[in-house]
Amino acid sequence: MPKAQETVLEIDLKALQHNFEHLKSKLKASTKFLAVVKAFAYGSDANEIAKYLQNLNVDYFAVAYTNEGIALREAGITQPILVLHPQTVNFKALIANCLEPSIYNSKILKEFITIASEEKQTDYPIHIKFNTGLNRLGFSEDEVDNIIAKLNDSKAVKIKSIFSHLAASEDLDEKKFTINQIETFKSITENFTTQLGYKPMLHICNTSGILNYPEAHFDMVRSGIGLYGFGNSEKENQYLKPIATLKTVISQIHTIKKGNSVGYNRAFKSDALLKTATLPIGHADGIGRQYGNGKGFVTIHGQKAPIIGNVCMDMIMVDVTNITCNEGDEVIVFGKNPTAEHLAETANTISYELITSISQRVKRIFLE
Ligand SMILES: *Cc1c(COP(=O)(O)O)cnc(C)c1O
Repeated sequence: MPKAQETVLEIDLKALQHNFEHLKSKLKASTKFLAVVKAFAYGSDANEIAKYLQNLNVDYFAVAYTNEGIALREAGITQPILVLHPQTVNFKALIANCLEPSIYNSKILKEFITIASEEKQTDYPIHIKFNTGLNRLGFSEDEVDNIIAKLNDSKAVKIKSIFSHLAASEDLDEKKFTINQIETFKSITENFTTQLGYKPMLHICNTSGILNYPEAHFDMVRSGIGLYGFGNSEKENQYLKPIATLKTVISQIHTIKKGNSVGYNRAFKSDALLKTATLPIGHADGIGRQYGNGKGFVTIHGQKAPIIGNVCMDMIMVDVTNITCNEGDEVIVFGKNPTAEHLAETANTISYELITSISQRVKRIFLE
């Protein structure tokens, strides 16, 4: 790979394939795999990632919002796409693009049936979401009869799956809570399918659910972060490869005399002679201000260079006093080492937030 000459996000599609195959190796052959490609495939590139996974015969995709699903259809994705968090205003567009809604309360069930009927649909696939403890989206157990009654009134929709979401699948200290969620899900779905008279697919596991709760894979699993190379634990990370490497370059090197300041608000003041490098990456690229003032760092020729002063919109300044480097040299922000998870920890956040923040103005480069 040629050295970066500007800020780029390199995406290693072979690493994606490796992660997909590793996660699949945890499943029974009959368990379907849904790839979560919301938020630009966790900050990489949803179209390219989805096309690549479609060629690897992934069974399903999920996005959060309807417009993300429409973009995938426009990119030529033909596999089923579950929209996890749709709003009623988009239901017509959702149907026009053959997207499948997660139905999480009676209001949207009612409105979806109305619109699907107006659009002359029959058996339009929908996914019923139950709340089993995350308390975010989903019907509660006592609404089953209500849902069944609404469905019996209409031929417009048909339930393709019933699902729920785990609140703490990565946290083994919460094992009891998670097992309780899984048991609640089982009891809801047994009651539900008995009344329904047919068996939709069942799914509850995200990435950490796949890894920690093999008994809860049911008919399908939904993986996001694992595909992108993070297993939410040291142990699981060993088997996965981060697919994205964020690189930049040194624009300028400055010598800072003792007592001088660096950056906006003069947030950094030097107490000794210092060498700084200015890099073309800032909070508008996804490196938030929380990484400033000595918290975050970048890597130059294998050595750590802390971010000094405040993060600007389009720039950061790093301390390179002890690093032999020149203007034009390549800089690693995160990748295989240090990973986005390591960098995220410096600002008390998680890999998910850092990688999904990389903004659309950062050029994506794909490695096959
Ligand atoms: C985002 C999301 C996932 C993916 O979770 P990971 O931890 O990234 O694997 C799965 N299911 C739902 C409902 C989600 O919102």
